[in-house]
This record gives sequence, structure tokens and C-alpha cells, in this order.
Amino acid sequence: MKGLMMDYQLTIPTIMRRAESLFSHKEIVTRLPDKRIHRYTYKDFSLRVKRLATALTELGVEKGDRIATLSWNHHQHLEAYFAVPSIGAVVHPLNIRLNHDDLSYIVNHAEDKVLVVDQVLLPLFEKFRSSVNSSRVIVIPQTNEAIPDGYLNYEQVVDSGDASKFKPFEEDEYAAAFMCYTSGTTGKPKGVLYSHRSVVLHAMAFMFSCGDVGVNERDVLLPVVPMFHACAWGLPYTCTFTGATQVFPGPYLDADNLISLFEKERVTITAGVPTVMLGLLNRLDADPVNHDLALHTMILGGSAMPRHLVKAFDERYGIRVLHSWGMTEMSPLGATSVTTSKLSNEDKETQYDYAIKQGLPVPFVETRGRDDSGELIPRNGIAMGELEVRGPWIISSYYKDQSREKFTDDGWFKTGDIVTIDHDGFIEIKDRSKDVIKSGGEWISSLALENALMGHPAVLEAAVIAIPDEKWIERPFAYVVLREGQSVTSRELIEFLSGMFAKFWLPDECEFIDAIPRTSVGKFLKSALRERHAKR
Ligand code: AMP
Repeated sequence: MKGLMMDYQLTIPTIMRRAESLFSHKEIVTRLPDKRIHRYTYKDFSLRVKRLATALTELGVEKGDRIATLSWNHHQHLEAYFAVPSIGAVVHPLNIRLNHDDLSYIVNHAEDKVLVVDQVLLPLFEKFRSSVNSSRVIVIPQTNEAIPDGYLNYEQVVDSGDASKFKPFEEDEYAAAFMCYTSGTTGKPKGVLYSHRSVVLHAMAFMFSCGDVGVNERDVLLPVVPMFHACAWGLPYTCTFTGATQVFPGPYLDADNLISLFEKERVTITAGVPTVMLGLLNRLDADPVNHDLALHTMILGGSAMPRHLVKAFDERYGIRVLHSWGMTEMSPLGATSVTTSKLSNEDKETQYDYAIKQGLPVPFVETRGRDDSGELIPRNGIAMGELEVRGPWIISSYYKDQSREKFTDDGWFKTGDIVTIDHDGFIEIKDRSKDVIKSGGEWISSLALENALMGHPAVLEAAVIAIPDEKWIERPFAYVVLREGQSVTSRELIEFLSGMFAKFWLPDECEFIDAIPRTSVGKFLKSALRERHAKR
């Protein structure tokens, strides 16, 4: 017997409809490239989304067409996030930090029909324009200069639309809505295609998985995470759903500009990778009394989180750092470091120990670990294995790619993250499978060593890699960046670690460098460190 509930398709226009009808007065704020602040309401926003949507249809955009964006975080980018899927097309943000060869590969692989480009990013676009086949380019005007010939002006496109002709896409919640390419460090980027349903369910899950209270209408959220990195972690959709005020930093992601925007706009939640938050902490610490922040939560993800960061933000600024784990292939949210009732009875230090774990899977995400021999690992917090996941916003196959090596026979996705899972279900990532250090047959967690090193007062950042060893096959080796004006020797650092780890875990050496090389989304680029070490 079938249930008797309505056939209500979970498509992206339903998110906007809610904001329009309930939160029309709430604001969306942007720091523009010329530093002026632009603000408008959800009412203005939805009118412009409808105009853009109908204008795109007039320009020949059809269902299933891919529309790429090459943009910073701002309100027009948010408009594209909604207008494109609202006509059944697919919005495809491009990572502006990739080199032009990768960008042209991605645009051609996705067969993007239209490109929406920030005027301030035209110099980047010009580098690969001749190698892409997109038929139209729409430029978002941002400076006093005229839009060059051959391009459409975004504002004129919006003005040409007729909101009364807007017909929201509601046919099929399984239709493609959003596309992202992975930012892997090996091989070509791969396309991940989200559906309306996966975006809507993911947006809902983030609403109640953000810390202990979730994202509320009362919140003011500023995503530092770029809108091209896994859909800004889905936060623009979550915020629109809840009616939270959204604040976009435009191209200004340095600590001073962010802090001034936090203060002026009374931002309560921000989200970004640990490097950005480390920069914020250093800036705040340089002048701890003269800040007036309303921040209560920082969502950190993308890479492992240093313990001292959680502790410092909590103790010195009363800000809860919420560790979140995910992947582009998972829309991206998979787990958050929530405080369970059991944990809330523990002392602060134990709570910090748990805060740096990747946490409990969010609702609808199922997890399990599998060891080298193909057996599922026990949930004892000790056994290590590759994390496998399944759920409604997790990839079932890559775009235009038949390979199945990332999927198990029973359809789970293999994350490539090596984890332990404890009896309460808390996941802790020990390594990426390609970065693991296996010494004398035993796994050594580079993440645990890095975290411990970053707890030393002289150390700003540390990355640990596996180096070849005749006797043990592999040994850990640490690259360390010191804080300004600090000094410490390799031997002292190894001694510092020796109180915390078994002897065979200790790196043979620490080498001091000026900066850790990073990927386009701010993760440690360990392949570059391995190459560097090979040349020693
Ligand atoms: P991406 O698809 O670029 O978001 O990269 C996903 C990968 O980043 C994951 O498989 C993890 O290896 C890593 N990652 C993401 N979040 C975290 C986190 N909170 N802690 C440790 N690693 C993370």
C-alpha cells in the first residue's frame, strides 16, 4: 500500500520560495571589489533571480545545459546559484585558483554553454578564453571600465528578464542542478553532479548539524569558503532556506578585512579552512581587546584542525570551533564534531580532544571502515581502515567517467580517508590513503604528528610525509614552518613529540621551510613535499 502524501518535488526553487514568502525583509550583504558595501533583501534577490532565469531562457539556455561561473563570493553569484537550476539548467562554479590549462579542460569536459565571469577576473579568463567552446560569456560589471566587446553585461541581462514569466523547475527532483570538479592533487579533476534533491536535503542537514543549535534565521553567516569549493559547503542554500542574513566578502579574504566585516555586520557564524582561521587568530591575538565580535561559531573543514586553534578561540574569544568533515563528492558535508551529552560532562581538555576529531556522521550519512585485507574494522577507536560512506547526497558515479574503483560492489563510496571509528561512532581521520606512512608494517598517522607539532609554541605549521627507508620501508619526516621571531631545533621538536608518541612514530628529522605548499583550496600539497625531499 502506498502512502497518501503529496508528490512534492524537492527542487531548488522551493528553497527560494520559502525565503521570498517568509524572510523577504532579511538582507544579503556583499563587499564589492571596489570595497563598497552592497546590500539588498531576499525580496530584491528573488526578483532578480526570476529575471535572470527568464533572461537565460531567452538567451537559449535549455534544461540540462551547464552554465559556469568564474566568480568570487557575492550576491550575483548567489543569484546564479538559484536562477540556473530554477530553469532546469546546471550551475557550475569554476575554481579561480586553478591554472588556465585545468580551467579550459574542465569547461570543455563539462561542455559549459554559457560562462558568467566577474569583471575583475577577466584577465584570468582571457588566458583560456581561446581554448574553450562556450557560446556566450556574461560579465558581471564591477569597475568603471566598459565591458569589452563580445561579452554580455550581466546587469543588462538581468534587466532584460521578465519575472512574470518565471516558471520554477519542479518536474524532477533527481535532475542535475549543480556541478563541481574535484580538486585532487593527482590526475585530472573529475566532475561531480549534484541533483536538486541532494542539494535540498543537504541544505536541510546543514541547518541542524551546525554546532548544537544549527543555523537559524537569527544568524548572520559569512562563508569565507569560496562558492567554487564544494558549493561553499552548501551554506548559501542552507542560509536561504533558514532566512539567515548572508554576508559575502567578495575578493577580500585577508584577516583585517574579514574582521572588520564580522564586526560591522554582526556576523555570528563563519566557515572556512584552518589556514584562514589561523590568520584570523593571529590577527585577533595581536590586538585582543579592541575587537567587538558577535561570532559564536566557526565551521572549520577541508583539512584537519589544529587543536590549539579550537582551544584558543574558545578560551580567548568564546567562539565555538565546529570541525566538519566532507568531500566534494559528498556535497560536501559528512560529519561534524558535535558535543554529545556524554561529552558535555567531560572536562574541557577532553572536549578539545574530541573537537579535533572529524565527529559523528550527519543524519542520512552512513559510515563504515575497511582494512587492508577487506574486512570491516571494529568500532573500537584503534583499528584503522578506509572510510566508506553512503547517503542521498553522496556521489554514485563521476560525470562522463565509467570507472568504478572508488565504489564498492554494494554501492558505497570509498573516501580514500584512513580512519578509526570509536564505539560512540566518532570518526577520526588518521591520513589520506595516499599520504599514509607505513613503517615496519605499522601505520603512523601523519595528521596526529602534525597536530602535536602545531601544539609547540614555536611552530606555526607542520606537514609530515612518508620518506623511503631501506629497513622500515617508510619513515615519517616533518616539514615545519616557525612562527615569526621563534626558534627551535629539529632535535628539540622530536624530544617534544617523544612524550606523546611511541618511539617508532617519531620523525627522523624536522626540516624548517618558509611555507607549506598548498592546493588550490588551501590543503597541504604533500606530493610537492615528497618531490622536494626526493631532490635532497
Ligand atoms: P575536497 O573534496 O577538496 O573537499 O577534499 C576532501 C578531502 O579533504 C577529504 O577526503 C579529507 O581527506 C580532507 N578533509 C576534508 N575535511 C577534513 C577535515 N575536517 N579533517 C581532515 N581532513 C579533511
